[in-house]
Amino acid sequence: MENNNNSTDEERIINAQETNGDKVLDLSLRPKKLDEYIGQNKIKENLSIFIQAAQKRGEPIEHVLLYGSPGLGKTTLAHVISNELGSNIRVTSGPAIEKSGDLAAILTNLSEGDILFIDEIHRLNKNIEEILYPAMEDYALDIIIGIDLPRFTIIGATTKISSLSAPLRDRFGATYHLNFYEHNDIEKIINRSAKILSVGIEDEPIKEIAARSRFTPRVANRLLKRVRDYSEVKGDGRINNNLCQAAFDMLEIDELGLDWIDRKILETIIDKFGGGPVGLNTIAAATGEDMATVEDVYEPYLMRLAFLDRGPRGRIVTDIGHKHLGRKKKGQSKIL
Ligand code: ADP
Repeated sequence: MENNNNSTDEERIINAQETNGDKVLDLSLRPKKLDEYIGQNKIKENLSIFIQAAQKRGEPIEHVLLYGSPGLGKTTLAHVISNELGSNIRVTSGPAIEKSGDLAAILTNLSEGDILFIDEIHRLNKNIEEILYPAMEDYALDIIIGIDLPRFTIIGATTKISSLSAPLRDRFGATYHLNFYEHNDIEKIINRSAKILSVGIEDEPIKEIAARSRFTPRVANRLLKRVRDYSEVKGDGRINNNLCQAAFDMLEIDELGLDWIDRKILETIIDKFGGGPVGLNTIAAATGEDMATVEDVYEPYLMRLAFLDRGPRGRIVTDIGHKHLGRKKKGQSKIL
C-alpha cells in the first residue's frame, strides 16, 4: 500500500508514545487501584507485598524504578501505587528538571510520605542526578545547608534502563520490568475501556483490535477509539466485525498491527538491499525516517514479531518477514 503523507508521531496511530489526544483519553481509562490494573501479575503481587510491608512498619515505601517500552503502563502504575498508599503524587520528568534550583524547589515542597514521579528519568542531567543521590539516600539537600527533606519516595520511569547511570540505578529499593502484555490481557483491557466509554462491541472485534495492539495497552485503547469513531459515522456506533475490518482497511493497519511505515521499512530492505544485511543509518536515509525513531519506535515490534533480525553486519528481513509481505526471498524461486 502506498501512502505519501508525511507522517508525524502524532498521526501514527500505532505509535506507543503518548500524544495529546491520549492525555484526555488516559484520564478516564487509567486504572486507579491495583485490582483494576490488568496483567503484569508478578509485578502486582510483588508490589502489593512491598506496599503492605511498608505500611505495617509505618514507613514510606522505598524508591521504585519502573522500566519498559512506551505505553505499557508505567505512569499508570505510579498513580496506582500512590492511590494504594493514599499519598500525594507530584509528577515531573527528566528533561523538565533543567536546573538544580528546579529540583530543589520540587523537593522542598514535598511532605512526608509524598511520591515524586519522574518520567524519563534516564534524561536527567548529570549534575541534577548528583543532587538526587543524597536526597534519595539520606533525605538531605546538599545545596541548601541545614535543610532536611521529608521522607518521600521517588518512582522513576524509563524506557531505556541502559542509559541510567549505575549510581542512580543502585539507589532504587525495587526495580520492576514491565513486559509486553499477553493477548488475553489486552482483550480484557479493551473490554474494560469499551465499558468505560459506553461503546457496544462484539467479541470478534475485541480479538481483532487486540491482535493489532502491538501487545501495548495505549495502542489498544487508541485503536478502540478510532474504530469507535468509524462505527459511529458508518454504522450505529456499535462495533461489529465488518465495521472493524473496514476501519482497519481505511487506517491501513494490517492484521498484525503493522502500518505503512513498518511495511515501508521491510520493503525497502527487501527491494533496495536484497533483504539485508543493511545498516541502520542506511535504512533511515532510504525511508526518510529519523535514525533514532527507526531504532526505538519501529524496530522493536518488527523484531518481536521476528520479521527483522539484527546481525553483526546490519538488519536482515527474515523468512517470515518476507512471507508476511508475500515476497520472495532472494535466491528462492517461489513465495515461501
Ligand atoms: P507509560 O507510562 O508506560 O508510557 P501509561 O501508564 O501512560 O504508559 O499507559 C497508557 C494507557 O494504557 C493508560 O492510560 C491506561 O489507560 C492504559 N493501561 C496501561 N496499563 C494498563 C493496565 N495494566 N490495565 C489497564 N489499562 C492500562
